[in-house]
Amino acid sequence: MKKSTKAIHTPYERRDAWDSLQIPVYNSMAYEFDDAAYMSEVFSGKVIVPDYSRVLNPTVMHFEDRVKALTDAKEVSAFNSGMAAISAMLISVAEAGKNIVSSRHMFGNTYLLVTRTLARLGVEARLVDLCNAEEVESVVDENTCCIFLESVTNPQTEVADTKMLSHIAKKWGFPLIADTTIIPFTEFDGRAIGLDFQVVSSTKYISGGATCMGGLIIDYGNFPVISERIKKEMVFNLGGYLNPQAAYMQVLGLETLGVRYKRQAESAKEIAEFLESLPEVKGVGYIGLESHPDHNLAKSLYGETAGAMVTFELKDIEACYDFINSLKLLHRATNLFDNRSLAIHPYSTIFATISDEEKREMDVKPTTIRLSIGLEDTDDLKEDLLQAIKGSGNGK
Ligand SMILES: *Cc1c(COP(=O)(O)O)cnc(C)c1O
Repeated sequence: MKKSTKAIHTPYERRDAWDSLQIPVYNSMAYEFDDAAYMSEVFSGKVIVPDYSRVLNPTVMHFEDRVKALTDAKEVSAFNSGMAAISAMLISVAEAGKNIVSSRHMFGNTYLLVTRTLARLGVEARLVDLCNAEEVESVVDENTCCIFLESVTNPQTEVADTKMLSHIAKKWGFPLIADTTIIPFTEFDGRAIGLDFQVVSSTKYISGGATCMGGLIIDYGNFPVISERIKKEMVFNLGGYLNPQAAYMQVLGLETLGVRYKRQAESAKEIAEFLESLPEVKGVGYIGLESHPDHNLAKSLYGETAGAMVTFELKDIEACYDFINSLKLLHRATNLFDNRSLAIHPYSTIFATISDEEKREMDVKPTTIRLSIGLEDTDDLKEDLLQAIKGSGNGK
């Protein structure tokens, strides 16, 4: 079956009592057993069926099964947010005295997780240019527990060569982990591009129009000890397992992901080209543009489509504020891949708690606007963008 068919036709593990066509929402927290011996087998992990919904729930399991069918992964674990998935992932590979090799180009909270929270627990962050093999090789050592990257960094729109990084990771025997939130996992083969694990904020494309929070660890099974830690220690002890209502919404989101994504990516490309043609716009960050320095690499790794996140530069921070304030159709909001188009000034919002100095090191610029392109007609979006850009002190 092709992915668009699988997204809808992955069967439940068990026949529903009423043969309902859509997965029921099992809001039950506990499950009854017929006898003590079987109950013991379940609680000791010999039989995998739900006993308590913090660790297994039929609706969540079905969501995980659908993602497994779409990614061909060995295991999939669903969490209550992208950050819950990322923290569970990194805690399952790291320990005091080990180091994580990554980049300064990271989602704000992931950056703070690595440089603050994990640092306090004795895990060192070695942040380098992941596009530079020599630089990466120069910091990797026997205490490196993983290389962690973002497929398309936000908001820098940088793409690192996962095959090159995978080569280094394999040589040393540690996993290559990527946050692939920006391009849906249905568009590329994570295993083929060298990833051992993907982490995803399913709050974004998957949820289907910003309906609920969610996160995923997609595990290709190359590190059985880490797989075991995720399914046992992380899910059980950290308590970040997805809730059944959100899993249901995410299953619905998966069913329409293909059509929504195609439309959003096409519109994003059109908007990026439009922005590039405006004299007030000092630069556009979109990997789908041929002018983007990582365009060919991104295409070879993540496929023809380039996602729905577009960034662009205005002349200064005042122009950015004016632009944001002038919008009439695009919403002033964070989040990505809502059905509605969104605009934000990352420097003063998502990265607001990080010092100017640190933001400079992260290449988070005061002149950048980030757009998430939704499902509206692109003519309407262009009209709003044009009036907001012209009115933002740029044309004067
Ligand atoms: C949103 C986002 C996250 C965090 O996900 P939440 O679901 O908000 O916890 C992590 N990485 C990237 C790239 C994101 O865009």
